[in-house]
Amino acid sequence: MKVLVIEDEKKIASFIRRGLEEQGFAVDLCGNGDEGFTLATTRHYDAVVLDIMLPGRDGLSILRQLRERKAPVPVVLLTARSALNERLEGLNLGADDYLTKPFFIEELVARLHAVMRRAGGEQSSILQAGDLTVNLLTREVRRDDEKVELTAREFSLLTYLMRSPGRVLTRTQICEHVWNYQFDPGTNLVDVYVQRVRKKIGDDPKQPLIETVRGVGYRFVKA
Ligand code: CA
Repeated sequence: MKVLVIEDEKKIASFIRRGLEEQGFAVDLCGNGDEGFTLATTRHYDAVVLDIMLPGRDGLSILRQLRERKAPVPVVLLTARSALNERLEGLNLGADDYLTKPFFIEELVARLHAVMRRAGGEQSSILQAGDLTVNLLTREVRRDDEKVELTAREFSLLTYLMRSPGRVLTRTQICEHVWNYQFDPGTNLVDVYVQRVRKKIGDDPKQPLIETVRGVGYRFVKA
């Protein structure tokens, strides 16, 4: 997931970059509004973190111009605590969310996940495959109306697979997304977790929802 951070205060910018990179995001930093606007309109990002007071074009102008061009990229605004008008104007202009400074990096990470999920078209927040349903907000998993108890990792693994039905996900990709490892742990960690999830959701080996792709990884069946 690639994020553009347009923020001119160097300390805040590097705090954001470090925090997001630790969470597995790829981050481009930019400290100038005009350059930031150019980046946002010429490169692909999954989300933009946008400060309001910037040298060059200010954040609200960038947002207005992005939305005038129908750029759908999710935008999270960074605002001063006192600046209610800015926040309201930002939301009216099409910001997806905002954070007031100072904030914890975990808050920004949570907002980014939420706005990207919405932008990905998961308005219902329900994933479904046959009689397996997953509620992304309540984190409730049901198979055939029976509740399935998953750990946080197991939940993350199942939803990662379910979000890309029909697509083969390699063990390395799964490690990166579920454990945030940027390296191969050199164990059968992924296989062990897939087995656990299969067992818990009562996956039928003859007609599995989670298919093994030999030597590569796993694939969630396409409905
Ligand atoms: Ca600023």
